[in-house]
Amino acid sequence: MSTDRYSAIGSWVDSHRGDIVKAISRLVAIKSVRGEPQEGMPFGSGPKRALDEALEICAALGFQTAEYGGAVGTADLCEGERKLDILAHLDVVDAGKGWDTDPFTAVEKEGCLYGRGTDDNKGALIAALYAMLCVKELGIPLKNSVRLIMGTDEESGSGDLPYYFSTQKSAPNTFTPDSEFPVCNVEKGRYTASLTAKWDKKEVLPRVTAFEGGYRINVVPAEAFALVEGLGAEDTGSLQEAAELLGVSLEVRKSEKGIELKVSGTAAHASRPETGTNGITAMLALLSGLPLADCPSSSAICALGELFAHGDFNGKALGIDMSDDVSGEMTISLTRLKLDDAGAEGCFDARIPVCATKENCSSVAEARLAERGFAADGKMIPAHVTPCDSKFVQTLLRCYQRVSGQKGECYSMGGGTYVHDIEGGVAFGATFPDFVSNLHGANERVCIDNLLDACKIFALVITELCS
Ligand SMILES: [Zn+2]
Repeated sequence: MSTDRYSAIGSWVDSHRGDIVKAISRLVAIKSVRGEPQEGMPFGSGPKRALDEALEICAALGFQTAEYGGAVGTADLCEGERKLDILAHLDVVDAGKGWDTDPFTAVEKEGCLYGRGTDDNKGALIAALYAMLCVKELGIPLKNSVRLIMGTDEESGSGDLPYYFSTQKSAPNTFTPDSEFPVCNVEKGRYTASLTAKWDKKEVLPRVTAFEGGYRINVVPAEAFALVEGLGAEDTGSLQEAAELLGVSLEVRKSEKGIELKVSGTAAHASRPETGTNGITAMLALLSGLPLADCPSSSAICALGELFAHGDFNGKALGIDMSDDVSGEMTISLTRLKLDDAGAEGCFDARIPVCATKENCSSVAEARLAERGFAADGKMIPAHVTPCDSKFVQTLLRCYQRVSGQKGECYSMGGGTYVHDIEGGVAFGATFPDFVSNLHGANERVCIDNLLDACKIFALVITELCS
């Protein structure tokens, strides 16, 4: 690309900073958290209102728009055969606690825009839209078109995509700006399973009569609770020290029946368990160190404590630790567990490399669990791989490098995106490496300069692919 055109794109985007911030702010103001389905609103009124607003923004900028079942909207750059789809989403996760400003009012502070969805994914969506507008307004001649596809259910299982893909075909190239730069070309597969064990109550003491931790299969829980009957506070002498070694804090309370334990670690996304400290596995380790009587709940706790050893993120004890050059290591987390006098139930979430198969993965884990009295009901979803040397990926990397001055390379991740089932699709931006966006947490934010750079990168990509 000529230097003139490159600098024209740069100045155009810079001069539209205010419009870009305003458009993002309009979307942030709509609380597009999934709600109860209503007629014409399969994911509730919030996501639908955000969709309407986004389509209004697109139409006002002169793009041809369409809507699919109240679930997905599209904006086309121009006439002509489509060469690129950009998939972004308008729904957000709930605000949660701990915000310094109103989560649904975009606030600019020190070069960042704060608000739920500024990073994930409303900011990136608007950056992609303005990249299309930039190419259009600069009059760059195009042979092929680009479509911005705006979904409304990415955070809760991507139930929106079938509304679109049941009638529409993918373009030959697809990226979703719903991750980090440079390019994520490998999304690990997923192996999830529920665990159950049943037993007859055995009246011996001391024993664990209640255990509870975790709430969502894809979240490594911070906290876990347990009730140990028949133990006094005097029997728990070394527990605090043990908790410290496990990296968690522990509260011990004497109750009528025995002692109540509460462990607090750090929550994490199940695709990156190494960034958290699992309260369930820490609690299992603590309980395994107590002088519990011989009974089914003690055996179950001991078994799970060994098979999901605290800090074993790679499934070693389950016999399924594996890795490959393309996708990296397997990760696994026990994310939910409930136990009482009648049995136990729980679930785990593993992100599996390309080399994982039924034979070397789920069958092995399920046999180990069965040996220790647990029935597992699991399912495996294969990994998604787009070759790094494809022409499309190389174009993305080149454009990223030109604008950011950083090395463009491919990476693999444990999380799945919109493109998991789209052949040749990749995640591309729009968060820059090392920027802390607090996505899904309090004070979510986007760096406005980064977002303008993302917009320039997308405009270069469109120019290179479609002109
Ligand atoms: Zn997202």
